[in-house]
Amino acid sequence: MRCAICEGLARELRDAWRSDQQDIRARFDETARSAGRDPETFLFQWITSLARMPDGDFDSLQSARYPRVDEVRRKWKEHETRSGHSGLRSGWRSAFIFDTVMRGGYGSLRGR
Ligand SMILES: [Zn+2]
Repeated sequence: MRCAICEGLARELRDAWRSDQQDIRARFDETARSAGRDPETFLFQWITSLARMPDGDFDSLQSARYPRVDEVRRKWKEHETRSGHSGLRSGWRSAFIFDTVMRGGYGSLRGR
């Protein structure tokens, strides 16, 4: 079940995602370079380790790295509690990894 607020939050999340992702990309390139690593390999290893991480750890790491996304998620959780609409809850991690690989990082790094 969805409503206008849910839709608004979905849009907000997309924008927040894009902004946070840009910051992370910039930081990644820098970190990889200073470690003398190939950014693509570096990013791929990071994503692989994320996929194996316990849920609690994943959440706190995600909050630290994606402050804007985290804020939207927090609002969504509030709305979810109040309205009973299903929010992000499940599938968050796989969506995150998929998006990072396909669009945010790995895919576009390859295209260089
Ligand atoms: Zn709603």
